[in-house]
Amino acid sequence: MMLAPEIETRPWAEQLAVDDGCCRTQLAYLFERSAFYREKLTAAGFASARDAGGLADVANLPLTEKREIRATCTPDNPFGAHLCVTPSEIVRIYSTSGTTGAPSYIPLTAGDLANWVTASSRSYAASGIAAGQRIVTTYNAGPFVAGAALAAFDRIGLCQIPVGTGNTERLIRAVELLRPEAVVLTPSYAAHLIEWAAERHVDLRGSSVERVLVAAEPGGGEPAFRAKLQEGWGAKVTEAMGIGDVGISLWGECGEQDGMHLGARGFVHPELIDPDTGAALELEDGATGELVLTHLQHRAAPVLRFRTRDHVQVRTSPCKCGRTGPRVRCIGRTDDMLIVRGVNVFPSAVREVVSSFAPRVSGHILVKPQAPGVQQEPPLPVSVELARGATADAALADAIRKRLRGVLVVQTHVELVPWGSLGRSEYKSKLVER
Ligand SMILES: [Zn+2]
Repeated sequence: MMLAPEIETRPWAEQLAVDDGCCRTQLAYLFERSAFYREKLTAAGFASARDAGGLADVANLPLTEKREIRATCTPDNPFGAHLCVTPSEIVRIYSTSGTTGAPSYIPLTAGDLANWVTASSRSYAASGIAAGQRIVTTYNAGPFVAGAALAAFDRIGLCQIPVGTGNTERLIRAVELLRPEAVVLTPSYAAHLIEWAAERHVDLRGSSVERVLVAAEPGGGEPAFRAKLQEGWGAKVTEAMGIGDVGISLWGECGEQDGMHLGARGFVHPELIDPDTGAALELEDGATGELVLTHLQHRAAPVLRFRTRDHVQVRTSPCKCGRTGPRVRCIGRTDDMLIVRGVNVFPSAVREVVSSFAPRVSGHILVKPQAPGVQQEPPLPVSVELARGATADAALADAIRKRLRGVLVVQTHVELVPWGSLGRSEYKSKLVER
């Protein structure tokens, strides 16, 4: 199901040509309206939009870090100096969830909001959900940007059954009685519900749910973790990804399950960088790096070359669904990353390796860094929760340790802990003990 086939199947080179025009217009807009970018670009040697060039030259422009924007917030302008519009043009103000600091505010014009909903609806429609179907939504229509995805479900023509977070009984009852074709939730919550249902002899596999749409944290695209979700739900799992400062569900996976398509094509330009040096990397098949996003037609508080802190792997092979352009799979977030003797380690990747030991393990892990900060000395302590009824076994711990070393090139100390001893989450999992 494609909401805009003429756009979503447009050859990527043609998309880049269209985006080049948008990029030039957007840069002119930033020079005219954004005090933050006028100053930043001028300081970097770009005195005008003409100097800055177009899409092909965008990698020459400076990167933007969230903290730079945050540093420009004042009591008079709580949005930051990248704000480009007058108060009367702002129709919505979201808060970020503040997982990386104090909440910040995301203002949107009516046009910005419409573009967010268009992009999000394309991303979610890629999963195969279609008009007339029912979807149980766990996103709260509250202060956070994920609430805007509810408008995308309306746009697709779905019948929404909002249950919000924090009420598992209500959710399962809605699934049993209202027979939705889809649910949307975090991968952690999807995993938690499998256990919850099993403990109460609820047949999730036999439910009406055919599609489980996951978002908001890495994991939904990792093969072993995904296999566990698909097995437990008896449904197809696809993931979506966005970032508050740029847009909701910018990316969404199709039924081929081979990485997320850019539903926000035309609105956002993606790039890949080396997270350590900031150097631009080619968006070529198999490449990994940090995702950097640039607004192409955003009005309220646009960002240029924004560092998302999402580490992704790129796929460029043609997708059977017909959508064109690079696809990405999220492999982790900078915020969770540890460096163990020079090797980058993502806790979600540790969980993925450990999950391959199912059914002997529950799939829950907790990384316990011994030192504050990112840099760690080996071995890195990892608690691995056993499956229900399983007993600790030195050979299993050793096998997990060896596979972690083989796959992630990291030395760990694996401690097996009993079933139920690590925390469950109805939102995002905490994989690192700080
Ligand atoms: Zn596809």
